[in-house]
Amino acid sequence: MDRDRILLTPGPLTTTLRTKLAMLRDWGSWDTDFNTVTAGVRSRLLDIIHGQDSHVLVPLQGSGTFSVEASVATLVPRDGHVLVLDNGAYCKRAGKLTQMMGRKVTTIGFPEDAPVSPEVLDQTLAADASITHVVLIHCETGAGVENPLAAVAAVCERHGKGLIVDAMSSFGALPIDARSIRFDALIAASGKCLEGVPGMGFVFIRKAVLASCAGNSQSLAMDLHDQYTYMEKTGQWRFTPPTHVVVALSEAITQFVEEGGQPARLARYTGNCRTLIDGMRALGLKPFLKPEHQAPIIVTFHAPAHPAYDFQRFYQAAKARGFMLYPGKLTTVETFRVGCIGAIGSLEMQQAVNAVADTLREMGIPAAAA
Ligand SMILES: *Cc1c(COP(=O)(O)O)cnc(C)c1O
Repeated sequence: MDRDRILLTPGPLTTTLRTKLAMLRDWGSWDTDFNTVTAGVRSRLLDIIHGQDSHVLVPLQGSGTFSVEASVATLVPRDGHVLVLDNGAYCKRAGKLTQMMGRKVTTIGFPEDAPVSPEVLDQTLAADASITHVVLIHCETGAGVENPLAAVAAVCERHGKGLIVDAMSSFGALPIDARSIRFDALIAASGKCLEGVPGMGFVFIRKAVLASCAGNSQSLAMDLHDQYTYMEKTGQWRFTPPTHVVVALSEAITQFVEEGGQPARLARYTGNCRTLIDGMRALGLKPFLKPEHQAPIIVTFHAPAHPAYDFQRFYQAAKARGFMLYPGKLTTVETFRVGCIGAIGSLEMQQAVNAVADTLREMGIPAAAA
């Protein structure tokens, strides 16, 4: 089979041919042609959140986690105290990297099948004045839960605390408006809902806190303030940029705008999610989350309760039919995940459901027993 398999994962994602073709040229990292592409990407990303007045956009080489780590290093003073609202695997990762960078960290744990609670946050901030920053994962990709960004931001603003948002898997799909939601930093990446290829992250930093970020970072490579200052002065990235990733992202943003921006992307992913859940239910496969907590980004399904089920076999059989599924990330129950994001529509989702139906049949798992 020479057609690429469809990636039903939370990144890397299936990309369009236009995006792939954008990578067929070489670019000089300090050349004005490339600097123009970088400047255009930065400006158009700010447009997506209506953040031209309130925020700056700082790109960073590396996968999304590099930008989360850089945001904590840059935003939080070395004697700062970070509160992580934890309802899943990516929250735990944020807590771990914060601790490894030597910042004091407190974690409040929540169940992984429901959103974090702004009320509990409110009480915690009232009880501990030493907390300087709150970390929220907008869409917890572990189970697929959408967390209440606007409500959490309002609580942080009322208490005068900084908010750092990992919006990696939601940015571009779920609405985020910097004019109505206050955050100090919001992080996303090239290879998620913008449908670029992986290799760079980017962080929106609130202009009002930018100056106070100077000198916070204990890491040279992770210093977003230094990256920002250098980029403003020269138009260039501080160290070697991922040139092909940047031009692919530029092309992906053009297609994002052509499609109708965030509302259109949300509508397409919502349709994908509905096709997926309806189709899987008909096969007896039940989603792990209640519908009201489910973001249309990635869906966790209970694994079939049948002795013949084995994730590796299930995965290989679905792959042979052209679809790449994703393992579950929950500690308590056996699950698998299916992404709704990427350059795919309901037709591809229906084909994926058909491939799963075929796969279950091959494994000898009757639909009713799934
Ligand atoms: C994808 C993702 C990240 C970044 O993961 P990388 O593997 O470093 O790209 C971080 N947070 C969330 C919520 C994500 O979905």
